[in-house]
Amino acid sequence: MDVKTKTKLTVTIDNEILREAKEEAKRKNLPLSRVIENFLKFFANPEVYCFICGEKFKVRGAELCSKCGWLVCPKCGACRCKLGDEAASVAFYMRKVYEDLLVGRVE
Ligand SMILES: [Zn+2]
Ligand SMILES: [Zn+2]
Repeated sequence: MDVKTKTKLTVTIDNEILREAKEEAKRKNLPLSRVIENFLKFFANPEVYCFICGEKFKVRGAELCSKCGWLVCPKCGACRCKLGDEAASVAFYMRKVYEDLLVGRVE
């Protein structure tokens, strides 16, 4: 593992959210700083999995299909166009979770 410089972060957040997050972190045996770090990493440079081949790829720099407007998998070239209606609907709502998390569109 490479050595990384750590910086102290002071933020103000909702009491209840912090309390629940601390409880959950304790249950999972994770330091809260790891949880925050992990989320911030994802927030800064989100990665998704291709719905067809399962390849993990970074959202940033990925191509968008001009037909469906979805991210195109760099490995297999799949996008919304390759999915049937039912699968596309599943994928849509899965991606919506990301978007809620990231407070914005995944593109
Ligand atoms: Zn793929
Ligand atoms: Zn497409």
